Amino acid sequence: MPKIGINIATGSLQQAEMIVGIDLGTTNSLVALVHPDTRKPVVLKDQNGLALVPSILHIGQHGEITVGEAARTFLKEDPSRTIFSVKRLMGKSYKDLSSSQDLFTYKIIDEDKESLVKVQVGQQFYSPIELSSYILRELKDRAEHMLKTPVSKAVITVPAYFNDAQRQATRDAGKLAGIDVLRIINEPTAASLAYGLGMSPEENKTIAVYDLGGGTFDVSILQINNGVFEVLSTHGDTYLGGDDIDRAIVDFWLKQIPVSAQPKKEDILMVQSYRLAAVQVKHQLSMQSNAEVVVGGHSFSLDQFQLEEIIAPLVERTLASCQHALADAKLSINQIDEVVLVGGSTRMPAIKKKVAAFFGRSVHDALDPDQVVALGAAIQADILAGNNKDFLLLDITPLSLGIETMGSLMDVLIPRNTKIPFRVARQYTTQQDGQGSMRISVYQGERDMVQDNRKLSEFNLTGIPGMPAGVPKVEVAFLINADGILTVRAKEIRSGVEQEIEIKPQYGLTDQEVERLLLDSITHAKDDIKKRALVEARTEGEQLLQTTEKFVTKYAASLSPKELSVTAADMQALQLALTMEDKDLIHQRMEALNETSRPYAERVMDQAVSTALKGQKIE
Ligand code: ADP
Ligand code: MG
Repeated sequence: MPKIGINIATGSLQQAEMIVGIDLGTTNSLVALVHPDTRKPVVLKDQNGLALVPSILHIGQHGEITVGEAARTFLKEDPSRTIFSVKRLMGKSYKDLSSSQDLFTYKIIDEDKESLVKVQVGQQFYSPIELSSYILRELKDRAEHMLKTPVSKAVITVPAYFNDAQRQATRDAGKLAGIDVLRIINEPTAASLAYGLGMSPEENKTIAVYDLGGGTFDVSILQINNGVFEVLSTHGDTYLGGDDIDRAIVDFWLKQIPVSAQPKKEDILMVQSYRLAAVQVKHQLSMQSNAEVVVGGHSFSLDQFQLEEIIAPLVERTLASCQHALADAKLSINQIDEVVLVGGSTRMPAIKKKVAAFFGRSVHDALDPDQVVALGAAIQADILAGNNKDFLLLDITPLSLGIETMGSLMDVLIPRNTKIPFRVARQYTTQQDGQGSMRISVYQGERDMVQDNRKLSEFNLTGIPGMPAGVPKVEVAFLINADGILTVRAKEIRSGVEQEIEIKPQYGLTDQEVERLLLDSITHAKDDIKKRALVEARTEGEQLLQTTEKFVTKYAASLSPKELSVTAADMQALQLALTMEDKDLIHQRMEALNETSRPYAERVMDQAVSTALKGQKIE
């Protein structure tokens, strides 16, 4: 297969442009890239040397937005206009969140339980996509500032358990931030890549990725086979993380003072102060054995031993999830080859210890646990950029492959970006009674109408035994081997008649042509949908005309002259509509014809059934 230096996600040719990796986290977000000179992934830091961008936004009185570290102070000073944990809201409806409402200090709109949530700040409403896009824009700005070049392409990570809506929301947030999201990849996959797992082609391994972040916990069991990652199982708790540890610490302290001295829930400012004090102490305890703090005029302390006690139930829950994930993957602990730690909370010595003990092996913790996901995303970005030519990229079809179906529509059997080798089969049938052959036309491209794509080859499946339309079962199989050679086979299953051709899909296509075909498909997407709807309406209309005509010819004797003449008029009207570019008109005319024929069709069928029954009795 010719090695095309093409960006498989966008179809554009590879320039020297940088593609960054982004970890869009619940608590913290980061941007990283593979350094063009050292070929090593690095996280991009700001002027103060900070890698993490806290996923916090403050929206000022006039709608001005502050993101990251600068927004942190507003958690205390202006909590109702300060948004955190927006990732939790991605792709969610209010109904999804109703049980966890009180965890947010800002206002989530609940007027419509079914639709996606919005956040209200003052008189303004913000969607989680929009809010996330501000964080992404901040990361993009940071990257551009550091690299002194525009950055418009990225790989963004999401938890393995994110559903389509959540992944789509993440993509949309990227788009809104002016980022072309080349790929959404799973966080555990990225973390494994950061440790070099899965980077050598012959590697076959099973990996457990334990990710305890700020607000969420998840464990994923991954299988790598020849550089391909597969998520075998994932388990976790979307409300279990460092935040819970912070709350548990606060509760631990509050028990030490009288109820009357405890902050009221409405006193958001004081609640936040407690929270931030707990975070501070917790972080100190990763490096020292005890720490102290003063909040609301009270002095509190915490030592390593107390912390371990406080988090014990929480750690137990995470290990139960690990057990679950193993069971779902049908694996036992000793089948796990590698354990990767992810998330800031895995810095806690107590957690490292317990996870290692559970899996009975040493864990990967050499990299900064809150950077690993971003570093892995950068490695994936580098692969997509075509800089790592031996890996993944080459084994993917750059354009979709399919055949022509009724109405000259492209029916895609192998979508572009499919990993090869690959095999797929689909069944088709004949359109006409007694049809003895079927033309299989193979196309390559992304457009809906075959004439806009590139014809690769064409052949006839002949010798189909005479059968009524719709009865033959013709299976068309596409097999694309590791060298990119496509074999197309058509087989009529009832009779076993079979025909096969071999095609080299890329043959003769220059990079520019591939690029043009992809760009065309993007430019014409809207037109194509319209055209497709029209073609489909026409095909349906033609079929209706055919069946009506057949029916009327067969049962003419049972129909009144009036019925015959109205039907003829309706058919003519439909025929005329088929020549116009108006799918709604076609649907109207079809509806009218159906209305006309329904009463007599039912009558005739009733008669036919009773005749058949009578016939049986005589026998
Ligand atoms: P997310 O993936 O949810 O964005 P991160 O991986 O950045 O989260 O983890 C953030 C969490 O890690 C926070 O709860 C933070 O308090 C916690 N954390 C960071 N450093 C430490 C540390 N040294 N000790 C304990 N917890 C830490
Ligand atoms: Mg994370």
